[in-house]
Amino acid sequence: MSDCIFCKILAGDIPSTKVFEDDQIYVFKDLYPKADVHLLVIPKLHIARLDEAKTEHADLLAHMMLSLPTLAKSQGLDTGFRTIINTGPGGGQEVDHLHIHILGGSNLPGFK
Ligand code: 5GP
Ligand code: ZN
Repeated sequence: MSDCIFCKILAGDIPSTKVFEDDQIYVFKDLYPKADVHLLVIPKLHIARLDEAKTEHADLLAHMMLSLPTLAKSQGLDTGFRTIINTGPGGGQEVDHLHIHILGGSNLPGFK
């Protein structure tokens, strides 16, 4: 998707602070962190929103999910972490490329 900022990050056209990468996912620091640790986990495949994911993406989604604990621990989140997927305008999604937020650390905000 040519107008997708996360696809531009994947292409290297927009700089990002990479934390991890494999053949299916790219993980980088959120530019405007909401907690001490704030990572974004994105698929290399452009899927706009969780409600546009299909059965054919099941293995990719499972891989994203199962990567979260290792990624959190790599950032020192040994006692746990929060994951968020915002979906659509009703869910507060601002970037239309599926992403899982990993949040944690001493500055983790509560839900209001
Ligand atoms: P959403 O609200 O769509 O769930 O989350 C989008 C996230 O992307 C936000 O937390 C925002 O701070 C982050 N973000 C937006 N633009 C950029 C960018 O250019 N680089 C990085 N690293 N994060 C971004
Ligand atoms: Zn994209």
